[in-house]
Amino acid sequence: MAILDKLTAETGQITLTKVPDSWCWGLSIDGVFNVNQTRKHIDAVVLPNTCIPTIWCKLVPLKINVFVCRMALNRLPSRVNLSSRGIEIQDIGCALCDWNVETIDHVLFSCQVASDMWRKLAGDK
Ligand SMILES: [Zn+2]
Repeated sequence: MAILDKLTAETGQITLTKVPDSWCWGLSIDGVFNVNQTRKHIDAVVLPNTCIPTIWCKLVPLKINVFVCRMALNRLPSRVNLSSRGIEIQDIGCALCDWNVETIDHVLFSCQVASDMWRKLAGDK
């Protein structure tokens, strides 16, 4: 009975009209779906709140910008990051060289395999 009384009290002030039902997008002022407002809402809710401003480089594909942003925030799934988030990893050592733990810095920059790859990409022999 208490639940019914509470429901009656809360719905008692609602006035129903004869206007047909319609869809209303709650993120915009006019109630119409808007990609820009939706993107801003998703950015505000999903993206990490950091002091680093997001400046996308328009010369490279979006996925590269996202990758660099995630790398800067240390959000790429290295073995150390996965382990620190509670995922059971048997070995957090680098899969390429096995000389160090697999951090983002190691895999992309200090690993010997990565260094050799960067050197080849730069055209050095
Ligand atoms: Zn390595």
